[in-house]
Amino acid sequence: MENFIFDNLEIWFVTGAQLLYGGDAVVKVDAHSNEIVKGLNASGKLPVQVLYKGTANSSDEIAEILRAANDSKSCVGVITWMHTFSPAKMWIHGLLDYKKPLLHLHTQYNAEIPWNEIDMDFMNLNQSAHGDREFGHITARLRKARKVVVGYWKDAATQAKIATWMRVCAAWADSQNMRIIRFGDNMNNVAVTDGDKVEAEIRFGYHVDNAPIAKLVSYVDAVSETEINTLIAEYQKLYDFADNCKPGAENHCYVRDAAAQEIGLRRFLEDKKATAFTTSFDELAGMKQLMGFASQRLMAEGYGFGAEGDWKTAALVRTMWVMGQGLPGGQSFLEDYTLNFDGDNSTILQAHMLEINPQIAAKRPRIEVHYLGIGDSGTCARLVFQGHTGDGVAATVVDMGNRFRMIVNKVDVKNTKDLPRLPVACALWKPLPNFEIGAGAWILGGGTHHSSFSYALNEEHLEDFAEIADIELLKIDENTTIDKFKFELKVNEVYYLLNKALK
Ligand code: MN
Repeated sequence: MENFIFDNLEIWFVTGAQLLYGGDAVVKVDAHSNEIVKGLNASGKLPVQVLYKGTANSSDEIAEILRAANDSKSCVGVITWMHTFSPAKMWIHGLLDYKKPLLHLHTQYNAEIPWNEIDMDFMNLNQSAHGDREFGHITARLRKARKVVVGYWKDAATQAKIATWMRVCAAWADSQNMRIIRFGDNMNNVAVTDGDKVEAEIRFGYHVDNAPIAKLVSYVDAVSETEINTLIAEYQKLYDFADNCKPGAENHCYVRDAAAQEIGLRRFLEDKKATAFTTSFDELAGMKQLMGFASQRLMAEGYGFGAEGDWKTAALVRTMWVMGQGLPGGQSFLEDYTLNFDGDNSTILQAHMLEINPQIAAKRPRIEVHYLGIGDSGTCARLVFQGHTGDGVAATVVDMGNRFRMIVNKVDVKNTKDLPRLPVACALWKPLPNFEIGAGAWILGGGTHHSSFSYALNEEHLEDFAEIADIELLKIDENTTIDKFKFELKVNEVYYLLNKALK
């Protein structure tokens, strides 16, 4: 599945201009725009190709391009740039209709003022300085969700911001087609992983379905011994085996059962055109073990996963996987497992009973088999490893009743000590700015004990996503203080009440 998400996608580039300065000016605007788009594509920094769609010189032309962008299957977002002064009333009809992500690029064809050559012809042609402010006004007046990127188009920093947004556009498009299959409901009585699935489909585009476990059991039972043998050979290439899990040893049968679950589950999800799923340790009739090992393997392929029926986290894990395609570091479903108080170095061990993505492993994972006492889990295979060190982001989405809230926390992943008696995959992190404020703010914001974590992404990816989805965003990072955070919670409460009342 490597990189397939970006291959057939396009970002359209539309240049605002007008005919006031004559046809020659528009020809030059066109040539400059072409050169900028070619330069952006040739930079090698952008994950999605940019398609230049020409100059838009009137209200009709603008509306036509933006409506075509809505209808295009391959277009996942539009970049606008005002080369000349484009009177922004011309943009009203098009922008009112436009439904996809929007990036307003404030740049200029030339980097520096040509002090000796500059004349009125030059000024009539190169008007981004004021043209982009005119456009900015109408997008602000229309309360249009958009990302504003300011910088010279050849600069790496400018291209990096566009690249970040493009990844989010791809993930947003993916979310509109996402189907999440739930094997069983949310864990009984748990509040934070539940929520309004109708509102989620309206807001995020994804669809949440239920599947009885019996339907999956028949897929797992249909897997052949030959198929299992082939997969075991793959495991032998990728992982170490505990002695009692090796072929011929007493616990190898549990690894084979897990392999059958992996094949059956993948086949089931493919048949349902689903790209995310949840499991439940109470919904396993007919299964030989909780599908933890299969969940680890499928997460590494890009399937979203949430434990105990947590469909919002399953969706976010998938979305963040799409955003991070091709970037190093890996990402995973994780749970706040247990605390380690150590003054300024206090940390949180992140783990789960079974289901952590081996993409974040520091070293070659090891297959182990152990009995798991919770629910009907039974004796389960699992990949055991520790996460590598590095900076990352943890994110969650919770349902506040009148809105979805995303909480994002920058974290610093540290080395984990060995856990000889706790056979789980895990990572150990210090939330920023420190444990006390990081964990305190997350709890004040009502964040889950489950999160979607990524080494590949940063706050900007999730900020762009929250902007496009039009949901609340709370960032917890090196600048967070509890006082400011509590104030933000109160302001947001008022904002969303008023916002709902006005709509
Ligand atoms: Mn859990």
